[in-house]
Amino acid sequence: MRRVLLIYTGGTIGMGQNPDTGALEPLDFSQLVGNIPELASIPVAVDVHQFAAPIDSSDMNPQLWARLVEIIVAHYDSYDGFVILHGTDTMAFTASALSFMLENLTKPVILTGSQLPINRLRTDGRENLITSIEIAAARHADGRPRVPEVCIYFSGKLLRGNRSTKINSEGFNAFDSFNFPHLADAGVNIVYHDDLILRPDYSRPMKPHYVMDTGVVVFTLFPGIDEATVRHLLATPRLRGLVMRTYGSGNAPQLPWLMEVLRDATARGIVIINITQCAAGPVEMARYSGGFLLKNAGVISGYDGTVECAIAKLMHLLGHYSDSAIIRQHMNRAICGEISVP
Ligand code: ASP
Repeated sequence: MRRVLLIYTGGTIGMGQNPDTGALEPLDFSQLVGNIPELASIPVAVDVHQFAAPIDSSDMNPQLWARLVEIIVAHYDSYDGFVILHGTDTMAFTASALSFMLENLTKPVILTGSQLPINRLRTDGRENLITSIEIAAARHADGRPRVPEVCIYFSGKLLRGNRSTKINSEGFNAFDSFNFPHLADAGVNIVYHDDLILRPDYSRPMKPHYVMDTGVVVFTLFPGIDEATVRHLLATPRLRGLVMRTYGSGNAPQLPWLMEVLRDATARGIVIINITQCAAGPVEMARYSGGFLLKNAGVISGYDGTVECAIAKLMHLLGHYSDSAIIRQHMNRAICGEISVP
């Protein structure tokens, strides 16, 4: 029988209403497992590992990402796959971070959650959970895992984790990956798009990474952006990486002071990544002169990556390298399918 480890971190899926305030709060998941009789009918042995103090995913942080890596490493050989129950709010950040922290991953790590708690009548949690377990246990005829990647499964879609974004705070259709196709679609059957799924090197072990450098920030351009604010931001002590959310195909206002501040920051070793504010489509800095000026100021293209992924990749690389030239090289290539470099 295949074995899957269910790691419960918190999130709406396992929450209940506080009788005093009416607000949702994380509950002990082992109590809730009894409310999901369907689990007994899946031909997969499921063990539950729960965070000592389950959290709302707004409280997720790099220490807890490292904790998730430790849990996966400690159980790696005993399970066919892992399902992480996680709040939807920061799920795309966690999925992106884990994709870099679990190098050469040879087993499925599927993150899921729900918009309604699992003990509610109309919950989306049951289907998300049960299908995620099936995907985490799925294998090819040769016995190799079907999806050896960090993914998000939600509302019928299996998405590459580091390509995913939360798109809806209300609807069950909470995630999508605008710049990369789904890895599988679950309807009556689960249809896997095998040609899109990463193939690890099975002759090498999975290599865990634990260190992330949080000296990073996300900054969004808008018409009327203030010079003093941007100068102040880029003078922040310990700042080593910036994700700049630009217009359209990676465009920016042609303000001499902005280019000068960015050039100076790059010269001081700050790595600046250009990610578009658009939900879909890539950055192409040579298309308009504003983008071209950014390129000349040392700003690196984020290609078609998400903000969540750019920030996680920067934290990971900054945690491993001190030389900004090396970090820039790694930002310009896909480590685990997170960007399409033309
Ligand atoms: N606030 C919740 C969380 O992210 C929302 C959810 O789980 O959907 O933990």
